[in-house]
Amino acid sequence: MSTPDYEKIRADIRKLVDEVIRSNAEKVDEQGLFPRENLNALARAGWNGVLIPEEYGGLGLDHVAFSIVAEEIGRACASTGLVYVMHTGAAQTINLFGNHDQKLRWLKPAREGLIGTYSTSEKATGGHWWFNLSEAARDGDEYYRLNAEKSFTTSAGQADYYVFQTRSPGAKSATDITFFIVDSKLEGIQAGRWEALGVRGNHSGPLRYDNVRVHKRDRLGEEGQGKDIVYHGVSPVYLIGLGAVWHGVARAALEKATEHLTNTIHRDFNRKLSDYQVLRQQLAEAKVLVESLRPWQFELARQLDQLQAAGEPQGKILLPLTEFKVHASEVANISARNALDVSGGYGYKKGPLERIFRDARAGIGMGPSNNIAREWIGKSLVGLPLELFEQGGE
Ligand SMILES: Cc1cc2nc3c(=O)[nH]c(=O)nc-3n(C[C@H](O)[C@H](O)[C@H](O)COP(=O)(O)OP(=O)(O)OC[C@H]3O[C@@H](n4cnc5c(N)ncnc54)[C@H](O)[C@@H]3O)c2cc1C
Repeated sequence: MSTPDYEKIRADIRKLVDEVIRSNAEKVDEQGLFPRENLNALARAGWNGVLIPEEYGGLGLDHVAFSIVAEEIGRACASTGLVYVMHTGAAQTINLFGNHDQKLRWLKPAREGLIGTYSTSEKATGGHWWFNLSEAARDGDEYYRLNAEKSFTTSAGQADYYVFQTRSPGAKSATDITFFIVDSKLEGIQAGRWEALGVRGNHSGPLRYDNVRVHKRDRLGEEGQGKDIVYHGVSPVYLIGLGAVWHGVARAALEKATEHLTNTIHRDFNRKLSDYQVLRQQLAEAKVLVESLRPWQFELARQLDQLQAAGEPQGKILLPLTEFKVHASEVANISARNALDVSGGYGYKKGPLERIFRDARAGIGMGPSNNIAREWIGKSLVGLPLELFEQGGE
């Protein structure tokens, strides 16, 4: 594949964001509105199939392009950014592990607005989203029955399909995992409400699966292949996309604060807010951190592209991707905090800055939470096992 024109990609997605997504952002937040209009506009322009090969109706672009798109959407609306990343991740997982029939049925209609998401986290295991207690059951030779209480699923009740993770029928260990593509219209699926501090439009509520009957043609990969899918399918694309959204959020906070400082004048001595060194220092603190994100994002995205092109597992760079997710979400919070501080009472009032401040908080707890992620990073530094699936082991 020849190198895409990344500047053109950025200009194109910026145009769409400016025309559609930015103007919907306040409404999406205030009303807790699922950003369907934004998703449909992204679908029409092809961005919902950014990583999907052209033969399945996608743009056939790479992870660098995907990260640019996610960053630019995040700059305008974090809710839309997260829905977009979960969709692209679900679609890419099918692209990597699905068969031709699944790609035709679930990927090709992305252009018409069909969207997917990940449904992995379970109430019983909290933030250890890779560890399921739910287990699929066989229903004859052709079908499975799925039962699970999923605690959070972005686009719950809104997505057309869920990339669903559970234990294989009769699993003997937590690593015996199987994935399914679950049609959201199937009987037995119930979405709960999503009311939260921020990212109020992304509907990351609970999902119950009660005896949901899924045909074996919608099993993703083989029975028991789920651990590979967690490491090399779900996680890499999700982490680069998530980090890119928080990068966009961090940039938006800095841009809005800079605008406020340069446009606001105290008339007593006719000084702008930007004349106060203490405020400029806070902008500068955010700027230095924000600028650390783009080169890192591009480098990791490039590595994902190289691994994919070489047919190597993308989970090879899971820890660097996790480090990037931690840093990007922390920088979004620092940038939003400083932006609110330097904008005084006007920043605190309802509007873009307080929305960004609330939205950014979601990044800290989203899987892997920054606490969990730091545990992984620290353990790997000192040669300890990560203990994802068993005490004292893997
Ligand atoms: C906005 C949003 C969108 C989401 N979207 C999805 C989605 O699309 N699909 C999906 O499957 N899930 C999704 N999730 C779920 C997410 O990945 C986590 O599973 C979830 O946030 C965990 O919440 P909890 O209260 O159960 O965490 P808990 O695990 O109970 O965490 C409580 C505290 O303990 C800390 N902690 C937990 N385990 C450890 C540990 N081992 N070491 C150190 N500290 C630890 C946490 O960092 C946190 O501070 C989403 C969550 C949010 C908030």
